[in-house]
Amino acid sequence: MTFKPHGKHLIAGHWVEGDDTFASEPASGAPHNFAVGRISDVEAAATAAEDAFWTFGYSTRDERATFLNAIADEIEERAEAITQIGSKESGLPEMRLNGERGRTIGQLRLFADHILHGAYLDRRHDEAQPERQPLPRSDLRMMQRPIGPVAVFGASNFPLAFSTAGGDTAAAFAAGCPVVVKGHSAHPGTGEIIAEAIHAAVQKCGIHPGVFSLIQGGNRQVGTALVQHPLIKAVGFTGSLAGGRALYDLCAARSEPIPFFGELGSVNPMFIFSNAMENRGEAIAKGWAGSLTMGAGQFCTNPGVSVVIAGENADKFAKTAGEALSQVGAQTMLTDGIAAAYRTGQQRVAGATGVREILATSCDMRTATPYLYATTAKEWLANEELAEEVFGPLGVIVTADTVEEMREVAMNLQGQLTCTIHVDAEDTPAASDFMPILERKAGRILANGFPTGVEVSDTMVHGGPYPASTNFGATSVGTLSIRRFLRPVCYQDMPAGLLPSDL
Ligand code: NAP
Repeated sequence: MTFKPHGKHLIAGHWVEGDDTFASEPASGAPHNFAVGRISDVEAAATAAEDAFWTFGYSTRDERATFLNAIADEIEERAEAITQIGSKESGLPEMRLNGERGRTIGQLRLFADHILHGAYLDRRHDEAQPERQPLPRSDLRMMQRPIGPVAVFGASNFPLAFSTAGGDTAAAFAAGCPVVVKGHSAHPGTGEIIAEAIHAAVQKCGIHPGVFSLIQGGNRQVGTALVQHPLIKAVGFTGSLAGGRALYDLCAARSEPIPFFGELGSVNPMFIFSNAMENRGEAIAKGWAGSLTMGAGQFCTNPGVSVVIAGENADKFAKTAGEALSQVGAQTMLTDGIAAAYRTGQQRVAGATGVREILATSCDMRTATPYLYATTAKEWLANEELAEEVFGPLGVIVTADTVEEMREVAMNLQGQLTCTIHVDAEDTPAASDFMPILERKAGRILANGFPTGVEVSDTMVHGGPYPASTNFGATSVGTLSIRRFLRPVCYQDMPAGLLPSDL
């Protein structure tokens, strides 16, 4: 089945045309025209979302679980067409899109199970103590309630799992929040077919159609209007630091500021301790090359930096990594803009003081080839730019003279989604000194692995101190992510008939 997008927005159950259109820029196949989002679309979608909240926000957990599973079913029904359009628009291989669809469906079903279980409500009860001296205590009950309509911005590099029906949307629906998605202009057709699936589930389940809208992009005004709309009560964002920071600032500047849950970029450093390097440095180098180039390095968890102790083993590590990377050919990037930004980032690193080239390749148009550079810990510490994310398959080896200097690098890290240590048993004393530092720097700390590949589960934390995310108390992956769209409400001496049924 070939899917041909019609290019309209989905506003509260209606497919709506725009005044203007923009053309998609697929990596392959013909472009299509899509309606440019307008302020009036934001107004209509936010108003309908607020209307829907009065029923959806008070629906039962069973009803919402059925809805989440229905969306998963509808996505499954469109599997082939989703892969086709997703792969054309993003340039990601079909196999990757198939895997990402599985993950997206899995997330929806996981949230259905999660809310049925009910632990997320965090129900608490302090029984009344009428005889307590000097003051009696009231009956106090608490549980988490949905926050209201949520705006969602997906990222270009996960057209399914971090997009229209991705983790943010699934978590918001699970919590009881209607969603207005600002479609990503890198994959508008993929957004449309997923919106079609959500629309079908809304109809099947008889839910208020305002529960979901998709407004295509085509200009930045639609995103800025959406985060500033007074009826929007929280924002889930996955994307770049620049975009996330701009929208975060707008949320903070509103007369009623709202939480902005931005999951941004990260360099995801790896620290390779001396015994691990001695015993299996070459295997780590090869594994790193694989992780760094997966999906053309377009992962927020891409391990862009390896910190090693200078010496013969470090030289061997660099040589092996360079050789492994040189075997990887050119890969298509998600958009022309991302490919151009990759080259700018590469030139920034190549031109920085004290940076030595290990592997230089050449790429143009919408492709990326790997690059590998080395620098010393001293240079890295002196040059803030080297700590910035280059979105693509580029690695930097930072060579420290001593483990203390390696620790200095850790101390000076910005917030990260992940930090990785490679350790053997004999490295434990040295590594134990790093743990309190890394806990303050990252949402997830890994040992002897690579950070690409984020499990969707109860324990996952995909977030971290700024600039990895704008809200370090939150995660955008896993069931804990529902907490972003809930707020605690305390009920004091409330008659049973007035308490929420979940209490
Ligand atoms: P992006 O360019 O920031 O775009 C994300 C969304 O925000 C798009 O809808 C975009 O609109 C909108 N946007 C960006 N800047 C805006 C502004 N100033 N005003 C209004 N709207 C704005 O990000 P991307 O290129 O899609 O994603 C790649 C980045 O995401 C990488 O840095 C990667 O590390 C990061 N990422 C992070 C995670 C995570 O979980 N932490 C996951 C995946 C990716 P348009 O459609 O108009 O461009």
